[in-house]
Amino acid sequence: MVARLIKGGQTAPSSSAIAAALTPDQEWFRFLNAQFGALEKIGEVLSDASDDHQKSALNSVMEGYELLLTDEIIVEHIKKLVFEEHLDSSSAIEKVFSDAANKIAASVDDYLREKSMDVVACKEFLVGALASSNPQQKFEHLKDRIVVVDSPTPQDIILFHQARVSGIIAEQGAELSHAAILARSLNIPTMFAVNGILNRCHDGQIAILDTAEAVVVINPSRSEVRKTEARRAVDLMMSQKLKAKAGSIARTLDGERISVSANSDGPVESKELLASGAEGVGLLRTEFLHLTSTSTPTLHESEVFFRLTASALAPKWVTIRLLDAGGDKPYPQGHEHPAGPYGLRGIRFLLAEKSILEMQLHSLIRANIKSNIRILIPFVTDIEEIRIVKRKAQQIWNEIPVEERAGLHFPQIGAMVETPSALMMLDHLCSECDFLSIGSNDLTQHLLCLERSDPNAAVQSSSFHPAVLRALKSIFDQQTKFEMSISLCGELASDPVATELLAGLGCRHLSARSTSIPLLKDIIRNINIGEAEQLAALVLRMTSTEEVRQLLGERYRGKFDYETGAGTRHNQAG
Ligand code: PEP
Ligand code: MG
Repeated sequence: MVARLIKGGQTAPSSSAIAAALTPDQEWFRFLNAQFGALEKIGEVLSDASDDHQKSALNSVMEGYELLLTDEIIVEHIKKLVFEEHLDSSSAIEKVFSDAANKIAASVDDYLREKSMDVVACKEFLVGALASSNPQQKFEHLKDRIVVVDSPTPQDIILFHQARVSGIIAEQGAELSHAAILARSLNIPTMFAVNGILNRCHDGQIAILDTAEAVVVINPSRSEVRKTEARRAVDLMMSQKLKAKAGSIARTLDGERISVSANSDGPVESKELLASGAEGVGLLRTEFLHLTSTSTPTLHESEVFFRLTASALAPKWVTIRLLDAGGDKPYPQGHEHPAGPYGLRGIRFLLAEKSILEMQLHSLIRANIKSNIRILIPFVTDIEEIRIVKRKAQQIWNEIPVEERAGLHFPQIGAMVETPSALMMLDHLCSECDFLSIGSNDLTQHLLCLERSDPNAAVQSSSFHPAVLRALKSIFDQQTKFEMSISLCGELASDPVATELLAGLGCRHLSARSTSIPLLKDIIRNINIGEAEQLAALVLRMTSTEEVRQLLGERYRGKFDYETGAGTRHNQAG
């Protein structure tokens, strides 16, 4: 890609507004953020009250505002306007609150007429929160630029996405870091660990960012620009060709079915997921719900989001992972983050902070009206952690009044296999869980004792390390014995160079970035399980990451030719 550079965060934000269209999911997400913001503001107003008398007077008013801001009918109505009538969040808020205020104002009852002012006040709180959180306005200067930054956090990536940058070049960071995963999943061309880039570039310079070749060219020649643009056109054509075939299921040449679901790291754009050929959501990381807000989402907000997402994709599975805080992912607001990849990570954090666990379980159970939600427990190291979650979920289920339970379904509960202890306890994991999902990112980090966000460890930390591949084989071997559905949802699943090997190791369920799904399905349709197993047997005898990488790279280039737009070289099945 070719675009002008800008050093992130160092240029004064432009004040002019842009009205770029956002998708309904993004608009809905903006509304949820505004709702958090408005509730926070109300909290601030209360705590600013000078004395107890003023406080108690304000309290009852503000309680009423809180009820209005989270009122199920109002929120559902806004959601409907955003999703079904494609209104932007601010117009939807305007319409719903103004209609409600007008209706109440027309009442003959004096008390009710007064209440219309409360509705207007709530609208103002929301509009204010929406304006102050409007990334388009604050970061318009980043639009269509390649942002050059030092070490972006996951929050920065979300902001850059909302600001519609063309690409990101980071001085630090690593491919398996959460920020990198988020950038890829949001389809932002990104390069990490580009040493010295901040000193070498200036705002406004033209640059080529070629993530496929891992090259950055500052001030390229005209012919370099032309070549890059031509290549981009071929890539686009190829991806359109693959997308057109992505809808159907994928079987290997010898008839083995391999399912491909999507990973999602942000508000789920269900139409886009379905268009990519995703057979469901194999991993929805709920971390993003906590990244973009300054407070923990409420039960109601989470439930609405989960219900909406799962309903839009039903009857396909939507696998929603409980909050995986810690490591290189931030803790929710108000919790101190320990250093390093261990400590209170994933389920350990949730068991220490039971209110978040309970809120998530509660909202997931209440959202499961279509019976397609699967709950995934992150970073399991102890079987008891699974048992506690299951008991808690059962208790929440039992406490739901019988008449409300009638329209709900108890979700399936599964665990991530991403720590060495989970690997060693796999038989027990299989007995306790309805399904399993392999987190090859963490499994790689913890098997190799490296930090996934450390740029210096990037080469060795590859999931192509023979130890990781042997671990994967041993996990997939359990599928038949325990009749267990085991999918792979780490970054390895999205790597087309790895697909044939994974099939040979026994993988039958992939969960990948949605943008990679058409390509992965095409590869599956052009491989043969017998050959893939021979490849896996050969690779499992290898002793170094480099050896594996080289063999797989050569084999991939020999078999497939997606770069020139030709697709498969030996395309027997078409
Ligand atoms: C993994 O570890 O492979 C995984 C999918 O989880 P995350 O990257 O969110 O830690
Ligand atoms: Mg993980």
